[in-house]
Amino acid sequence: MRDSDLDFTVARLGECRHRSPVSGVRFTDDAERVIYHSTLEQMKPWLDAGAAPPAMEAAGPRQMLYFDPAGLTCGIVTCGGLCPGLNDVVRSIVRSLRLNYGVRTIYGFRFGYEGLVGRLGHEPLELTPEFVHRIHEGGGSILGSSRGHQDAAEMVDYLKDLGVGVLFAIGGDGTLRGAQTIGEEAARRGLEIGIIGVPKTIDNDVSFVQRTFGFETAVTEARRATLAANAEAEAARNGIGLVKLMGRDSGFIAAYSTLVNNHVNFCLVPEVPFTLEKFLSALQQRLERRSHAVVVVAEGAGQDLMAKSGERDASGNVRYGDIGAFLRNAITDHFTRHGVAITLKYIDPSYTIRSVPATAHDSAFCLLLGQSAVHAGLSGRTNMVVSFWNHHFTHVPISLAVSERKKIDPEDTLWNSVITSTGQPRDMRSRREARSARLPPTRSPIAMTPTTNTALKE
Ligand code: ATP
Ligand code: MG
Repeated sequence: MRDSDLDFTVARLGECRHRSPVSGVRFTDDAERVIYHSTLEQMKPWLDAGAAPPAMEAAGPRQMLYFDPAGLTCGIVTCGGLCPGLNDVVRSIVRSLRLNYGVRTIYGFRFGYEGLVGRLGHEPLELTPEFVHRIHEGGGSILGSSRGHQDAAEMVDYLKDLGVGVLFAIGGDGTLRGAQTIGEEAARRGLEIGIIGVPKTIDNDVSFVQRTFGFETAVTEARRATLAANAEAEAARNGIGLVKLMGRDSGFIAAYSTLVNNHVNFCLVPEVPFTLEKFLSALQQRLERRSHAVVVVAEGAGQDLMAKSGERDASGNVRYGDIGAFLRNAITDHFTRHGVAITLKYIDPSYTIRSVPATAHDSAFCLLLGQSAVHAGLSGRTNMVVSFWNHHFTHVPISLAVSERKKIDPEDTLWNSVITSTGQPRDMRSRREARSARLPPTRSPIAMTPTTNTALKE
């Protein structure tokens, strides 16, 4: 997105007329901004023109509130796939609403947006600090989750009947788009319902959000899988450990899990195409040199190599081909054809990673995110998500957060570091693909030569 298209204006329900009951804190001024860019070079055009550079609203407690907390009812919903930290965010929102602001009624809607459709009969939970006291010690979501379309009009009817003033929606791009339709329907009817999103994506792929909760936990947990894969690979002659990790469109989990140690020899992500022929040939060379190899593949990598099933899930998301199983078979066939005996162990830890409790740092991050969401909700902000940007918690309009996906830039430091760490060839594309992508020569300033890379390997 071009800088000139960046509009960080967050919608407000109206004027703030209620003094906050929160005491002993530094209130955040409404004019406080967190700069979008992080280098002077990026900001230069704005500075040269004497204009304010693009910036996000700072999150934090406001002195004046839109809602009177004493009479406010709030709701919380979690949708989409599981992600470590969901319970931490729910807990934080409940505690902050009740303990900071004195909000009495907090509904926990069951099973995603299904819980907002009255006729489906999922009674909401009444959430209290006592109820949520220890929910963060377990994984999953105590509210439950679901996929699948629900009618915005029906959901707004239900919120209106319950008198909900702020809905906190914790979920991915689909959930946030759904929350936006609820906000639009409420506004169309002149109802005062604030919509505050907390972006949930284990893949860390939401635009305008530098860090999402659960990502650190995922990388921590994925390390167990890559260590196991390496142990299996090293213990066998021509041992191959193949690990499939999350990452439908963005390979951040695979990339960071690769950087955790020097065991991973190939990291395959959706952003960097490869041909089977070049990958298998590089893998064979690695086995000839070192007699074992570890391969990490993100679930969205190499989708162009498989036949498309055309299937979609209940929410309409395209079902991806199983690249893990595909590579397992392709590797086995390749070495069988070449008369090389291998021992391949395939590990898919995705569901165990998604459902573990958050790590300590992620838990603390969830707590701060939840508090920022509550402050924003009470101040009458709407159709926004809480973001973490340039070391500050900020507000971002939902429309921006779902406008595009954050992806690995193959020319940038992260991917260069992956190449250096693995020693894998920088370019495993076909000649035709490389030509049509019109990318600059495949050497990068900080990439080492393949020989040096290999020497780095254990
Ligand atoms: P994940 O990252 O786990 O996929 P998600 O929030 O993207 O999380 P989805 O299953 O895609 O998960 O969507 C969650 C909910 O949001 C579903 O109930 C789905 O019907 C609803 N939803 C998705 N996209 C839209 C949309 N464009 N408009 C309205 N509702 C939507
Ligand atoms: Mg999604």
